[in-house]
This record gives sequence, structure tokens and C-alpha cells, in this order.
Amino acid sequence: MKPSTYRPTVCEIDLSAIKHNLNEIKKLINPSTAVMAVVKANAYGHGIVEVSKILSKSGVNYLGVATVDEAVAIREANIKTPILVLGSILPSELEPILNKDITLTLCTNELLKALDAAPKGKRKIKVHVKVDTGMGRIGIWYTDAVQFIKEVLKRKHLEVEGIYTHFSSAGRDKFFTQYQFDSFRDVLKDLRERGIEIKYKHAANSIGTIGFLKSHLNLVRPGLIIYGMYPKRGFANKIKLKPALSLKTKIVYLKETPPGRSISYGRTYITERHTKIATLPIGYGDGYGRILSNKGEVLVRGMRAPVVGKVTMDQTMINVGQIKDVKIGDDVVLIGKQRDDTITAEELARLCSTIPYEIVCAIGSRVPRLYKN
Ligand SMILES: *Cc1c(COP(=O)(O)O)cnc(C)c1O
Repeated sequence: MKPSTYRPTVCEIDLSAIKHNLNEIKKLINPSTAVMAVVKANAYGHGIVEVSKILSKSGVNYLGVATVDEAVAIREANIKTPILVLGSILPSELEPILNKDITLTLCTNELLKALDAAPKGKRKIKVHVKVDTGMGRIGIWYTDAVQFIKEVLKRKHLEVEGIYTHFSSAGRDKFFTQYQFDSFRDVLKDLRERGIEIKYKHAANSIGTIGFLKSHLNLVRPGLIIYGMYPKRGFANKIKLKPALSLKTKIVYLKETPPGRSISYGRTYITERHTKIATLPIGYGDGYGRILSNKGEVLVRGMRAPVVGKVTMDQTMINVGQIKDVKIGDDVVLIGKQRDDTITAEELARLCSTIPYEIVCAIGSRVPRLYKN
């Protein structure tokens, strides 16, 4: 049988970990609170179609994506779960929204006008109105939100199914997060007093879901924690997550070197003593960042081996001088567990001065995704 890939560099996705994480999230929320699992950016690099399939089988109420194309990819895989496009779209993107039962985020008059001009189908077009309470990205400023919603409600072909906001600093500024939430609640109260009922009211991302229980309202929008990564240190005692993604490769070249040999572009690493250098078939072209040059570590035979020299587009060298019996073909773990040690996306993020989100999103399309469980 032809293997699905010839490449030794693979990204393994453990779908049972995703199910586990979803169940852990459900333990934190009220049984009546709905879950919108966020699967944008190819499900944070994990594969949007496979992840959406497992999540919809596991009973999530909604899927959240960033773009219309992502929503279309899910519908084309015959997944029927409701989908919200979290980004603000242009009128030119409306067609699939109308034809494939996709929910859109509405927060511009331009899009509202385009919806007025769109052909009217049998079904109402579902919209969630986005309210800006301090993220400053998209959304109607909260003091103008009620007026905007009243305008939208005049349209009989539209259904305002949801209203939501997004926290800018849920992990680091309790005071501002509370201010955002209070501002959003003012909008909800005003709507209630006018007799306007909206089905879904939501605000909580991963950090809000774990760290700010009051913000759950009746729907939460976790992303990162679905995949088993922690958005913040100190959450490990509040929820037990399992990382779903591992990045693996194999040694393809091995050499013994005397002291004084230079390794890779720019000769930023020179061997100090007699050692062994292994070459891995992965590089920044796969999303293993060049910033990890002379900085990253990988696991070989259960031990840590440092990245030496510059990470190149397709290949990376490691020093395996301290590891016994290393051979060509040996398994190497760049993210994930090997024997008793684990390299997490969070650890790599700290090394790269970024967040785990960026580490997993960066894993390129050249790396085949293999699914288990
Ligand atoms: C990405 C995103 C989320 C999910 O954020 P996490 O921090 O990954 O949980 C939720 N809501 C909106 C609007 C988003 O853009």
C-alpha cells in the first residue's frame, strides 16, 4: 500500500485528546451553556476538516472560523454544524453565506446594505452582531450597539441570532476585562428592557472560559484549549488539558566532527570538541522558526539535543554528541512527548518570544497531518 506520505517529517494529531479537552471544558461550564469551538487558521494548524468532524460528532453547538473560505471547506466536507464567520466580511464574500447556511458577523452598514440587496431565500440569514467594548478590532462601539441592532431588526430577512464581544486582555488585566464585560452587559440589559430577545450572547475565549466564569453567558468560544494548550501559566490546576499535536521527524544524516567545524549558514556554530552532528529534514519552510537557530531543543532517544547553527529552509542540525547509539532513521520529536520528556508548544513559544498560538499556526502545509484515534 502506498503510504499517505513519504516524508519522515509529520504532524501527528491525536483526535482523542481533542475530545478529552472538550469534555474538560464542559465540566467548567453550565450544562445549558453552548460551546462554539474555534477552528480558524486550519484549526490552529491541526486540520480544519478532521477537527471539525470530530468536534461536531462530539456535540459542539457551533464552529467558529475566521474566513468564508474556512466555512466553505467545512460545509464541503458535509459537516452540518452551525458555523459563525468571526471576521467582518465584504459584500463580495456574501454568496456562499447565503447558499450554504453560514452565519455571519455583522458590524458594518456596508454589509447591512449589501444584505438588503441580496436575493431573498426561504431561510432567514443568520447574523451575530459584534460589539466592541475595548478590543478595538471590529465591532460596533458598545454605546452605539442598540441603535445598530434596532436597524438590523427592521430587516425581516435577517435573524439576529447572536450578539458578542471579545476581550483584549483577559489574561493580564482583570480590571479592564471586567470593564469590557460590564459594558457588554449594559448593552444586553438595554436590549432586554426594550423587549429584544437574542438567542446567543457570548464573550469568553479560552482565557475567559477558564479564568472568568461569569463571562460565559450562554455560549463560550474556546480555541486554544480545545487543542490542549494553555493560554496562561497557572491554569494547569484549573483544567487538565492534553496537547493534541506532535511534530516529529527522523535523523537523515549523521556525522562525527572534530573540533573547529562550522555548521550551517553564516557559521554561527563551531564545534568545540569531537562530537556528532545530526541533520533533520525540517526547517523554517515547515514552520520550525529560524529564531530557534542555536536555541531550540529536540528529543532523541528520550534526551534533549540542542539545535546548532542556523535553521535552514528545509534542514536543521542538532548536536547529538551526548546521546549514545544515535543512528540515521532515529525518531526525533520537536513538539510532543518522547519517553519521559515533553517539549510543549508553550515552551517553544517562550523561546521564540511569542505565544503558543503562533507556534502551531506556523506549521506549514508541507508537513503532512496524520490522525490517530
Ligand atoms: C480566535 C478567537 C477566539 C478563540 O480564542 P482562544 O484564545 O484561542 O480561545 C474566540 N473569539 C474570537 C472572536 C476569536 O477571534
